[in-house]
Amino acid sequence: MCVLYSLIIKIIERKKELVKQIEKWLKSKTSYDNIYYFLARDGNKLGDDTIMKAIVNTKLILEDGIVWDGALTWEGERIIEVGQASEVTIPEDAEIIDAEGIYTAPGLIDIHNHGSVDALFCEEPLKCAEYFVRHGETTVLPTLYCNLSLEQMLLGVKKIRKEAQTGVGRIMDGLYMEGPYMNGTGSNQKFILWGGKIHEREYAPLVEAVKGYARIWAVDPAREGIEDFIKYVRKKDTTAIFAMGHSNATAADCRRMKKYGLRLQTHHGDSGKAPGFAQGTVGAGCDEYTLYDPDVYAELICDENGIHVAPDLLKMVVRTKGIERIILITDSMPLSGDFANNEADGVAYGPDLNYDYEGHLAGSHLTLDNACRNLMKHTGYGLCHAIRFASLNPARLLGIDDRVGSLENGKMANLILIDDMVHVKKVILNGESIPT
Ligand SMILES: [Zn+2]
Repeated sequence: MCVLYSLIIKIIERKKELVKQIEKWLKSKTSYDNIYYFLARDGNKLGDDTIMKAIVNTKLILEDGIVWDGALTWEGERIIEVGQASEVTIPEDAEIIDAEGIYTAPGLIDIHNHGSVDALFCEEPLKCAEYFVRHGETTVLPTLYCNLSLEQMLLGVKKIRKEAQTGVGRIMDGLYMEGPYMNGTGSNQKFILWGGKIHEREYAPLVEAVKGYARIWAVDPAREGIEDFIKYVRKKDTTAIFAMGHSNATAADCRRMKKYGLRLQTHHGDSGKAPGFAQGTVGAGCDEYTLYDPDVYAELICDENGIHVAPDLLKMVVRTKGIERIILITDSMPLSGDFANNEADGVAYGPDLNYDYEGHLAGSHLTLDNACRNLMKHTGYGLCHAIRFASLNPARLLGIDDRVGSLENGKMANLILIDDMVHVKKVILNGESIPT
């Protein structure tokens, strides 16, 4: 604290305007990390040549409420102040955006997204980033599926990491590995390339290539050899998060994985079912374990017709898990098959759904703004909840909520202007306006 104090005194001597701000931050709940950011910023003479920007005439969507007459300022890529318009300091020379009364919300965070209607993240990352950022997605985990070979995965990761360095490519912030080791209950089964016995020599080059960059690994907890794989990944990357994905595992299989970092279920309600103990009984598997364990987050795909998860099931899951453990995802995929290929077997149609070549449901063509709207439509939960499920909750799961996920002093200026049905009117990424 002594060092911090002397640094603050130094700045007090140098800059009056900043002093006022620091007093406000110290009174507010701003973390010390963010204070350090501002101190470092001043040391780097930022503030002398960076214009402050402000959004006025707006309603601010916060973690636990709405500020009806709000204002927000930022400088460079960080938020300076968020609050009631009458209490936010806006310098005379600030660049002003008049929101004309609509909402300002944090940029959306999509942790599970394979690509847009016509491109895969692993093949054309920038094209995908340009598409999703216009829909308010300012953080995305490009997702690799187990229909890719090791060589395809390695090449895809290389492209993604390169394109993530600049421009809108910066929305890509790590990877979601949907596989490679899941079971045969998902879509595109004909093309799964990781179905054999699990061997270290097979997965070692992949784990090595993505360690520290792959944030989430979805696995089938019941698959033979999966525990060795998980231990190996954890040894290489102690922060790796595991999800239960495409699995008929029992709840007991899931529970065994918890000590290795199991925190998430891949698209809840649409990821496989455990068998019952006897004819006519219901088994307890990944879905049931997720509903039971308060630490585990549930991914939800909220499509327009409620096909991935039926509206009544959505209501039950949100109520059971509570508002802190729901994460909206798109599971977006390029257009592949047609539902009509399997219509006779009861495959349902949705305008935002994707189907594999055999007509099975295979992800969606959703964007997170639409997913928020569908969640509100199907469940009656409001704007604050929908935005939270698509920003703060995924940020907390990933452990990046110190810099993104909500409107708070010191966080990244990843902002979206939306109307009351989450139609995106403006996107600001790292403090810069993106053409929509
Ligand atoms: Zn997926």
